[in-house]
Amino acid sequence: MLISDIGLKQKTLKREVSVRGVGLFTGAEVELRLCPAPENSGIIFQRIDIPGKTLIPASVVNADNKKDSLRSMLVKDEGRIQTIEHLLSTLNAFGVDNLLIQVDGPEIPIGDGSAKIFIDLIEKGEVTHQLAPKKVFVIKEPIHLSEGESHLVALPLDEFRVSYILHYPRSKLLKSQYCTFSLQKGNYKEEIAPARTFSFYEDVEVLVRSGFVKGGGLENALVIKDDHVINPEGVRFEDEMVRHKVLDLMGDLYLIGGMILGHVIAIRSGHFSNIAFVKKLLSCMR
Ligand code: ZN
Repeated sequence: MLISDIGLKQKTLKREVSVRGVGLFTGAEVELRLCPAPENSGIIFQRIDIPGKTLIPASVVNADNKKDSLRSMLVKDEGRIQTIEHLLSTLNAFGVDNLLIQVDGPEIPIGDGSAKIFIDLIEKGEVTHQLAPKKVFVIKEPIHLSEGESHLVALPLDEFRVSYILHYPRSKLLKSQYCTFSLQKGNYKEEIAPARTFSFYEDVEVLVRSGFVKGGGLENALVIKDDHVINPEGVRFEDEMVRHKVLDLMGDLYLIGGMILGHVIAIRSGHFSNIAFVKKLLSCMR
């Protein structure tokens, strides 16, 4: 793998935009503000509610994920920010390279459990080109990682493509689902961004009772009980769950620090293995 200049330019937003919302795990109501940033500054989170207003670069070196983690998290000094993956996925899809993301609490708002809240925000802020060349990570040869039931492979390809296989043999509704997504202008908004996070009722019950999920409800997650979805409005796509896995994976992959040119194939991966894979990709550059 190598970092290459393929003729694309870096991007940021034209103007500052903000939105208020609640975090899924902490239940904290926060204001999220996206601010344009200069060339080569990268994506940087800032906790403006803590002393020192810590800056936390969206890099895999700051990732702090435990095994079976249900969201992705970054930590730097006293600053910690969680559930970053849906916002990062949207920035990956829109090709935003430089942005200062200010937040006055510990978690990025969940919105409706999909990336819709971030699509609206980025469209309001308008993506604009800068002059510096975009940082592109080109997959030159197959790279793979297997950990238990999770497998990830990156293959050379002259576009950015993600394929995902989920497998829940215990669920008659889910069983196995497959989704392949090749990023083209505008298709993320239609095909991936509306897909909501999902959970099994039995798991949600435990998480809510133990106080682990404080901001969750049917308004921000698909909930599956006895092999059907209990949300009154039903699913947005028949395979909404695997589409959400693609959304998550695109967010975690953006922690590499730029665009990937290649095909990433993931089987039953979660945030922990996604991030381990990003570290592996980076180590293959040396
Ligand atoms: Zn997610």
